[in-house]
Amino acid sequence: MNPFLNPKISLSFLKNYITDPGRIERFSPQQLEKYRNHALKKILTYASSVPLYQKKYEETHINIQSIKTTNEITKLPFITKQNLRDYYPDGIIPKHYNKKNGHVVSTGGTSGKSVSIYTDFPTILRALGPPLAQMHYFHLNLRKIRAAHIGNFNRYRIDGVTQEHFFPHLKHFYQLNNTLNLDVNEPIKTLMERLNTFKPDLIISYPTVFQHLAFLKKKGLGEHVNPSLMQVGGSILDEYTRSYVEDAFSCPLLNIYLSVESQACIAFECREHNWHIHSDFFYVEAIDQHNNIVAPGERGRIVITRLFGQGTPIIRYTGMEDLITLSDNETCTCGLHSPIFKKPVEGRMQANIVLPNGTVFPCGAFCFIEPILNDLKTFKIKQYQVIQKKINEIDILLVIDEDLRNIGAPVEEIISRIKKIYQEKTCPDVTISVYEVDEIKTDPQSNKPTPIVVTHVSQEEGYKQLSKV
Ligand SMILES: [Zn+2]
Repeated sequence: MNPFLNPKISLSFLKNYITDPGRIERFSPQQLEKYRNHALKKILTYASSVPLYQKKYEETHINIQSIKTTNEITKLPFITKQNLRDYYPDGIIPKHYNKKNGHVVSTGGTSGKSVSIYTDFPTILRALGPPLAQMHYFHLNLRKIRAAHIGNFNRYRIDGVTQEHFFPHLKHFYQLNNTLNLDVNEPIKTLMERLNTFKPDLIISYPTVFQHLAFLKKKGLGEHVNPSLMQVGGSILDEYTRSYVEDAFSCPLLNIYLSVESQACIAFECREHNWHIHSDFFYVEAIDQHNNIVAPGERGRIVITRLFGQGTPIIRYTGMEDLITLSDNETCTCGLHSPIFKKPVEGRMQANIVLPNGTVFPCGAFCFIEPILNDLKTFKIKQYQVIQKKINEIDILLVIDEDLRNIGAPVEEIISRIKKIYQEKTCPDVTISVYEVDEIKTDPQSNKPTPIVVTHVSQEEGYKQLSKV
């Protein structure tokens, strides 16, 4: 049955469809705060019938009725990834939840560390709020825009669930032929051909996919692929890849930040390159390794509270493990009133680069190639990857665009400059090797394209090293 036939669902959708876009532009910080407090109370009431939250709040003797504002949220205990796993399936949904109306979505996690939660039609519908707000901000008309999404459409991944259970019901509100979902595992030339026929205004995908598409575009393919906005989600976008892709398509490539657990974009990058939090949909905190809140301006692990939706509630959830730096009431000149991250999101904690001298770099902060190539004014590196093989051994792989090989700065000079900067940024006892390769292979274990920075040093080994210095 089409869930829109339920007037409760369709009326609330219509209301949100009108009021969600532009809220973070229109509302003052005080109005946003009031809106959030109201949403928080609603979600806490919902969570009070969910066994996991019941148990946690009982153990800590919290009366959730006493939590009236987001400032008081720190009284509530954290919820970990392990908690969600331990209480799955029945303990993470309300006792009387109708599982027939729910869908299970899982995070990736090739090492068996994945986590599953419940979502449902009203939640997926509500999760449209943040993207609608973004379209409003970028002046893209939802009813006209042609959006292509190159993602991961496995059955239990959020993209797949949305495609299968959600889009078919939207046809009365939105022209379905304005959306193109493509599987990231298709050959890149096929992806480009499909995009070329579709002529998208907006493309959403991973950095590596954009990098490959940009290479083809520079070679004259994809004549009709001229989007007005491109967005990257789910991976760290380094500055070189960004400038390479923007140069190829003459169009901005900006970040969006989301996760399976959040169900929607938590933050997005504006025209001024600030990451704005969708603070009407999420409450975001940052904590240190002892679970203490860190001050604004300091780097910490993200904790999210999802202020909307049903299925599995997400309140003070620590399982996303990305590193963020919240700003101290800093404002942006772009006209949005929502809080911003002081720095870009820096990627998963487990993926930190730990060096012999005890320096720790989040993967997103370990890309030093862009300034060199920018100085040399060249885009002859088609793709690159930084691999920490051992604690004191780093390989940097470069794929050279053969057509540009003999134009501008010689490859040897690029290689020697890259080697030099990585040596300076690390320490003398790290061996840096820079190699030219024909291609950078995708990890067959993962459904996602290859990340720009990877480490083979285990987290345990990293901690051991940190305790030595
Ligand atoms: Zn801004």
